[in-house]
Amino acid sequence: MNNIAIIGGGAAGLSAAVNLKRAGREVTLFERGDRLGRKLSATGNGQGNVTNVHMGVEHYHTDDEPLLARALARFGEKETVEFLSSLGGVFLPDARGRVYPAGRQASAVTDLFRRELERLQADVRLNSQVTALARTKGGFSLTTAAGKETFSAVILAAGGCAAPNFGTDGSAFALAKGLGHTVLPLSPVLVQLKTDPGEVRGLKGIRVDASLTVKRKGRPLGTFRGDVLFTESGLSGDAVFRASSYAMAGDEIEIDLLPDVSREQLESALQKGEGADCLLCVVNNGLGRLLWKRCGGDKRRLLALLKAFPVTVKGTLGFAYAQATRGGVPLKEVTESLESRLVPNLFFAGEMLNVDGDCGGYNLQWAFTSAHLVSEAISCR
Ligand SMILES: Cc1cc2nc3c(=O)[nH]c(=O)nc-3n(C[C@H](O)[C@H](O)[C@H](O)COP(=O)(O)OP(=O)(O)OC[C@H]3O[C@@H](n4cnc5c(N)ncnc54)[C@H](O)[C@@H]3O)c2cc1C
Repeated sequence: MNNIAIIGGGAAGLSAAVNLKRAGREVTLFERGDRLGRKLSATGNGQGNVTNVHMGVEHYHTDDEPLLARALARFGEKETVEFLSSLGGVFLPDARGRVYPAGRQASAVTDLFRRELERLQADVRLNSQVTALARTKGGFSLTTAAGKETFSAVILAAGGCAAPNFGTDGSAFALAKGLGHTVLPLSPVLVQLKTDPGEVRGLKGIRVDASLTVKRKGRPLGTFRGDVLFTESGLSGDAVFRASSYAMAGDEIEIDLLPDVSREQLESALQKGEGADCLLCVVNNGLGRLLWKRCGGDKRRLLALLKAFPVTVKGTLGFAYAQATRGGVPLKEVTESLESRLVPNLFFAGEMLNVDGDCGGYNLQWAFTSAHLVSEAISCR
């Protein structure tokens, strides 16, 4: 197999291209945008959180956990760091296990890929959106504005629907559907949550290190510790992003604004000082004034608000603000090598597949893992 098209120049497509070129295969990489790796360059708040040392299937949502677990066992965080280091640079974990390039610049990770593809003299076509993909006798015919070309194998690595400003508007799912694949319902994850505006009024811009519990009909679904940022329309921050993988409209969220402080400690602190002053050095002053108003001067109610500030989920800010996509081509429709069970020599990698990970490097890990499984299978043929 030596005439391979890769559709999508993101983390997955770039990794597959490097692997296949290193294995001596001829590949053509089609990227609809005018630059490679635009989303990769924006990851981790621009710092590039490429994987996580606490890797495991429990950090993912998918339709086939056993397959995903085997995939991560074959190519996990260690292999990712080795692979990225083979391109150049140094990659280090922070205290929470999130792995970043030592220079803390995501765009430099993209530059490593670009440099390696140049060295390998890969055929990279920018501004080349693939608009149709069809089976032919010996393989596939692929259409771009420049015309039709044929390939013996195709890797679909065109991303999901999240953050369409980076070229991923979900339109590439039509290519998979056209070849008979199912696309499971698509929804945004790792995204800001919308709440009842009244519940967060006056709190915009306040950031707390909190613990947030999502409840459905009173039943806890999960607790998430980390940054919570109050916004005009709801909640943001890394704890909220992680919670967004579980929460849906109608769920209740309770925010423990002081997770490291016991009720007894708080009770005693609140005894000192009258009015909102009792909250000095307990919470941010702006937050304190609002909480005092909301508790109506009742310190028992104030304590309850501090340990379980309630908000109701009204939805999310949608794909435009999301970091990842839930849904896509089911793992049940692909083999261990992520080759289509319906169309031989059609492979999938990255966010197009129904795998989405928690915040913290898990989605890029999936892009690298899937790209490696696919390129290994193609290289062996
Ligand atoms: C702001 C932001 C921050 C993030 N931060 C992190 C993080 O720190 N850590 C982490 O693990 N994950 C993070 N993610 C998620 C992660 O970036 C994605 O899951 C990952 O990049 C997906 O890789 P991919 O190769 O599957 O798709 P993408 O990187 O989305 O690449 C797909 C590419 O395909 C191209 N394309 C689409 N359709 C076509 C077509 N028809 N023809 C040709 N080309 C096409 C697109 O232009 C795009 O360049 C973040 C996401 C965002 C939006």
